[in-house]
Amino acid sequence: TAKLIDGRQVSATVREEVSARVKKRLQDGKRAPGLAVVLVGEDPASQIYVRNKRRDCESVGFASFQYDLGADATQVQLESLIDDLNDNPEVDGILIQLPLPPHLDADPLLLRIHPDKDVDGFHPYNLGRLCQRKPELRPCTPAGIIRLLDSIGTNYKGAHALVVGASNIVGRPMALELLLKGATITVAHRFTQDLAGYVAQADILVAAAGKPGLIKGEWVKPGSTVIDVGMNRLDSGKLCGDVEFDAARERAAWITPVPGGVGPMTIATLLQNALEACERRDIG
Ligand code: NAD
Repeated sequence: TAKLIDGRQVSATVREEVSARVKKRLQDGKRAPGLAVVLVGEDPASQIYVRNKRRDCESVGFASFQYDLGADATQVQLESLIDDLNDNPEVDGILIQLPLPPHLDADPLLLRIHPDKDVDGFHPYNLGRLCQRKPELRPCTPAGIIRLLDSIGTNYKGAHALVVGASNIVGRPMALELLLKGATITVAHRFTQDLAGYVAQADILVAAAGKPGLIKGEWVKPGSTVIDVGMNRLDSGKLCGDVEFDAARERAAWITPVPGGVGPMTIATLLQNALEACERRDIG
């Protein structure tokens, strides 16, 4: 039976590290890192995410700047807010909570965020740096997964890593992170034939398709490490991943639970990115 990779525990360690570094900054007479969170409209799920991000910021000692704009905010208004935040020396990171109301266009707004303040790591500059193996601010979910894999002493070199899913926020940057670590990578997506065959050869499997039960337990390579990014809400209200957990657990050596695996790492990595953005700006 596979051992569980405890994302709650590893993420708590990351938060403690961030907290300690913030405390040290304050002792040295430096300012606390500042994170600006922008919410447009009244989407209830987004309101919860934003509230949690602000709470998490404060729990590690960051200054949090909140911008709640009405659902009728215009593209021009958001552009000028981003320009102000880019220029504000107390702001190290800028988060625009997505999705935006339909009359707004997210892409040009995300491009407008200065790459040094792009704590989500979605800006083409930051993705390009990762691509060139000189990462600066890295997309949070894949970077958090690397931290999880490091925490169990993963040997990447010579390993075959399969990433299922090729989205801009998870699958693609995940493949680049694993490549950077020295793994041999395969990326599967909706047009892939014989997913079972690729899974059977994966020493490291990262499932990020958003399809409950897509990865059958019997496909999993014995002794492998299984990272389940999927967060699927079933009709019963239960949260489940993309991997058949019980059956996969019989074959793998390590596996992440859902919830309590990858999920808590994403926000912890965001906090780490904001601190890093702050430290970089001190130096620069
Ligand atoms: P997405 O819908 O943007 O991308 C899904 C990818 O999966 C696509 O590349 C698609 O080609 C591929 N795919 C779909 N069906 C497939 C199939 N049958 N076989 C192989 N590949 C297939 O999703 P996303 O934003 O990358 O998120 C993926 C999942 O991860 C979702 O469940 C999401 O909720 C979850 N997620 C979790 C976290 C976290 O912090 N835990 C963060 C981001 C996303």
